[in-house]
Amino acid sequence: MNVSLSVDAIAAGAAAADVVIDIVGETASTNADLLARIGQLRQPTLLVAESQTAGRGRAGRAWLSGAGDSLTFSLAWPLLRPMRELAGLPLAVGVALAETLAQLDVPVRLKWPNDLLIGDAKLAGILIETALEKNGDQQVWAVIGVGMNLALPPALAQQIGRPAAALSPALAQDRNHLLGRLLGGLANALRQFDREGFAAFKARWNGLHAWRGKTVQIIDQGRVEREGVATGVDDQGCLLIMTENGMAPVLAGDVSLRMKDEGDVTHAVAG
Ligand code: ATP
Repeated sequence: MNVSLSVDAIAAGAAAADVVIDIVGETASTNADLLARIGQLRQPTLLVAESQTAGRGRAGRAWLSGAGDSLTFSLAWPLLRPMRELAGLPLAVGVALAETLAQLDVPVRLKWPNDLLIGDAKLAGILIETALEKNGDQQVWAVIGVGMNLALPPALAQQIGRPAAALSPALAQDRNHLLGRLLGGLANALRQFDREGFAAFKARWNGLHAWRGKTVQIIDQGRVEREGVATGVDDQGCLLIMTENGMAPVLAGDVSLRMKDEGDVTHAVAG
């Protein structure tokens, strides 16, 4: 059984004193809740849910979890950089989470743009949504949503239908400490991103790249849009793939990345 979520215990692990921490029992989406509060927020705010019933991924995809199976939280953060300079932010967030997990002996690598993998299985997904405060100074906010598996009961694994991973029971048990550490790592990374931009994260992302040298396909609305060998990311956070026609940068947008010949895992699990 997981220990109860506690504001004090999360804050103790975070060393990020200026972040407001809110806990809710059940909600549809912590990202949607924080986006609805932009305009009333006065400082960085973490919202963590015991259970999330309609977790969102990119492009309308879903993050699936049962109560207590996932760490589901969102962090609303005011940024100094304008919207046009935020393309690399999702990758910087992936780096921050992966580096924090490495300190806890979890060997995570990154699948572009920002999935956290253990081996080839997905441990966590990240969804970043941005909002502009409609007051005089037009404050930019990033709402950073994270779903991270603490456990993978067979029914959930089957529902996901793609390779998924969970943290060890020992690490998953103290959710407060884990979340505190992740919050501290994120706070540091967000401050650094504001000061230095993606330049401070590019080499770190490339060092954590899960699919370097693999032949990958870029999928756009279900169609293979491009194919090539994944090399790494450029200064903007675009994925560089070596295609038949030379090196091509791919913008994150709404495209998905698949390993070539990954196959239809949904059928393998269901069958
Ligand atoms: P994709 O994973 O298809 O490349 P993406 O990286 O944009 O897309 P996200 O938006 O981060 O993915 O997350 C949604 C996807 O994550 C879902 O389409 C599903 O494949 C997968 N998923 C959903 N719930 C879980 C979970 N609990 N554990 C692992 N993977 C999950």
